[in-house]
Amino acid sequence: MAKKMLQFVTTDKSMPSKRTADERRQDFDEIYKDFAKDKAEEQASRCSQCGVPFCQVNCPLHNNIPDWLMLTAEDRMQEAYQVSSATNNFPEICGRICPQDRLCEGNCVIEKGFESVTIGAVEKYITETAFENGWVKPVQPAHERSESIGIIGAGPAGLSAAEQLRKKGYQVTVYDRYDRVGGLLIYGIPGFKLEKDIVERRAKLMADGGVTFKLNCEIGTDITFADIKAEHNAVLIATGVYKARDIQVPGVGMDGIVPALDYLTASNRKSLGDTVPDFDSGMLNAAGKDVVVVGGGDTAMDCVRTAIRQEAKSVTCLYRRDKANMPGSQREVQNAEEEGVTFQWLSAPHAFLGDEAVSAVRAQRIHLGQPDATGRQVPEIIENSDYDMPADLVIKALGFDPEDLPTMFDQPELQVTRWGTVAIDWKSMMTQLPGVFAAGDIVRGASLVVWGVRDGRDAADRIDAYIQAELRGEHRAAG
Ligand code: FAD
Ligand code: SF4
Ligand code: SF4
Repeated sequence: MAKKMLQFVTTDKSMPSKRTADERRQDFDEIYKDFAKDKAEEQASRCSQCGVPFCQVNCPLHNNIPDWLMLTAEDRMQEAYQVSSATNNFPEICGRICPQDRLCEGNCVIEKGFESVTIGAVEKYITETAFENGWVKPVQPAHERSESIGIIGAGPAGLSAAEQLRKKGYQVTVYDRYDRVGGLLIYGIPGFKLEKDIVERRAKLMADGGVTFKLNCEIGTDITFADIKAEHNAVLIATGVYKARDIQVPGVGMDGIVPALDYLTASNRKSLGDTVPDFDSGMLNAAGKDVVVVGGGDTAMDCVRTAIRQEAKSVTCLYRRDKANMPGSQREVQNAEEEGVTFQWLSAPHAFLGDEAVSAVRAQRIHLGQPDATGRQVPEIIENSDYDMPADLVIKALGFDPEDLPTMFDQPELQVTRWGTVAIDWKSMMTQLPGVFAAGDIVRGASLVVWGVRDGRDAADRIDAYIQAELRGEHRAAG
């Protein structure tokens, strides 16, 4: 029987239950259980069906949230899936790992007097129900086209572009230097946020839908960019950002001080069953160690929580601002605290101590001064406030910058911004090179999966428009 909406007045918000912290520490499985059918319907029915739905406005994909909430509340799940998948290539992934508190849920209007609608968990529930019922099918284009598109990078931006272009019938080849599809979905984000079979299920669907994957293929090393460009009618660069920011303090070159992504990739590979020599040797393994993670973003949270699961002796997060000013999702900070991570707020490394390998971090206390032009209070060092903490594994999680793509691709004309991201014309999403487009983190800088999906979808539309114009001879005529 159809449920009435607007139940927020009488029904409290609830999230799918979380496994206990003790249980979570034992494995890399996701920490949230799935919504049961009646719970998903109940939570969806809390939506007040706003005339101007701020949840939708603040979702980067402008998902039609009120409609799929209503359809879920009414147990019309196949329609809910159709609506949800019309705007999002990976709703089950975004439902799991979007920082909803900053996007859809954080802007839900009932948040003011009541708690927001549980949007992400319902989005996940809709797609998981669709998978269970066999409603999620590989792409089957109405007609095949002869034009081909080369996509460099099999992360969320490249994959969503690939799927959208296949829907239009293009021949799509995705190149990636990794041996698996997914980019940071597979090797960056840990399983306790996103289990790997969820990513592999999508990769298989895409291959079944006719997307060709060329893996273990680094553009600039294994094939030149010029070769890719010559082979395809258009090219999309979706290579993400991978150059780790470093810490400029004495001792930073010592053994035992490692970049976050090396550490997380080793852990993810281990979970996927790979042989990982640097993990087995102990270099990228926290077992039995005093671990200090430097940084306060989502990557830092993923590192501390991974170290807990690897049975570290102690795990401390060192962050130069306070809890209220952390860039990472507050939900993830809370999860980390529950799992036993210690936070040293308002602290920054001053030096790393040890002989060949690190044995301690010398930290100094920070005070938050006046806000800068961006409105954020500037961290100021408190003189003579040094203190030492034991550390035999230090993980640097200070963010990422783009690699030097013009050099890597031997394309000096490929224009980049002063941050090294690829410069595009936002209207056409084309770079300085005709027929070469770019999307995702390589354009925005380190961002979010949902923005990667959005950019990938937009790029697919622009590439289609470009090819259609090519076929009409417009570019040649203009030239
Ligand atoms: P990527 O996912 O980085 O994919 C780029 C792909 O390009 C990679 O597979 C790479 O191997 C390939 N590539 C690069 N150069 C070449 C080359 N020369 N030749 C061939 N292939 C190449 N976002 C969220 O929304 N929620 C989260 O919880 C979250 N957690 C995160 C945790 C971590 C540890 C990190 C690092 C990021 C996290 N993010 C999260 C951010 C999110 O993962 C990224 O914003 C998103 O993956 C960017 O997508 P992309 O497709 O642009 O790039
Ligand atoms: Fe919210 Fe992300 Fe889903 Fe949009 S894609 S509705 S922001 S969880
Ligand atoms: Fe429903 Fe909240 Fe969106 Fe309004 S803002 S439509 S209450 S989910």
